[in-house]
Amino acid sequence: MPDNDSGIRTIGVIGAGVMGSEVAQVFAQSGFDVVLVDVTDQALDRARQTIERNLRFQRMLGAQRGLAAPPTVDRAAVLARIRFTTRLADAADADFVVENVTEDWNLKRPVFEELDEVCKPDVVFAVNTSCIPITRVGGVTNRPSKIIGAHFMNPVSLKPMVEVIRGFHTSDETVQTMLDLLAAIGKEGVVVADSPGFVSNRVLMLTVNEAAYLVHERVADATEVDRIFKGCFGHTMGPLETADLIGLDTILLSIEGLYQAFGDSKYRPCPLLKQLVDAGLHGRKSGRGFHVYQ
Ligand code: NAD
Repeated sequence: MPDNDSGIRTIGVIGAGVMGSEVAQVFAQSGFDVVLVDVTDQALDRARQTIERNLRFQRMLGAQRGLAAPPTVDRAAVLARIRFTTRLADAADADFVVENVTEDWNLKRPVFEELDEVCKPDVVFAVNTSCIPITRVGGVTNRPSKIIGAHFMNPVSLKPMVEVIRGFHTSDETVQTMLDLLAAIGKEGVVVADSPGFVSNRVLMLTVNEAAYLVHERVADATEVDRIFKGCFGHTMGPLETADLIGLDTILLSIEGLYQAFGDSKYRPCPLLKQLVDAGLHGRKSGRGFHVYQ
């Protein structure tokens, strides 16, 4: 049984990509039942494989990096708690929803409209987005006080902190429910106000985009850029390695979202970033981005 008093037992996790698969895993490891939804069986198969692989390597990685790891690594038990489905209507059973669909408002919007119809009216929807304002999400549902941002960090299973975003109408009760639920999966939330990119990605996306410009302008190659951040500033990863981990498609959608939201030229996407995405080089998940992966 999960460790929380709120009556939340089943989590609907929508989107089973880089983030959704790990969000599902972490909740299942903490004893929650999970309904994991994506649009194709292939995406769900990939998610299952990712979760199996993560569980196998998790303890070892956590120990190596000195990071928090959730308690249960009994693979069969964790997987048995996750129901994989392509039907969004199956989220009707959920007591809480975490949405992790592609960073594109045209894809996320209909998901929230349908969730609003199928889910119980008291269910909170947590939006895992890089840059999309939480208030905008609230505006397309009939439950704006129950919409909250939960910007999980990647890799979810190893990161102890989550950026929690309070939308214009988000209630205190919803914020508390979110923080309690995060505590139940061994994570701490930092609450910030709503603004495109919030705190983390307003800074990170600019850094990544500027790092891409340095490579584009041949000031340095990707390895040199990353070495400077690791060697000079003591960062664990350089900005372009971080971009590859996040996914260059997600980075491009995020920086485009910031550009559109603020109308400020400082967010104009680097042409090299666009070219890499057009070429299908999406970072770690495709085997190559700014760097090449085995
Ligand atoms: P991803 O591209 O890896 O996965 C997105 C998934 O959403 C895909 O599997 C896609 O098939 C699925 N999807 C699309 N439409 C859907 C629908 N109608 N119903 C159900 N599933 C649908 O992207 P990701 O990296 O997992 O990012 C997901 C969200 O999390 C984005 O909003 C992103 O900005 C945010 N985020 C990403 C990171 C990161 O490091 N990648 C970190 C924090 C937040």
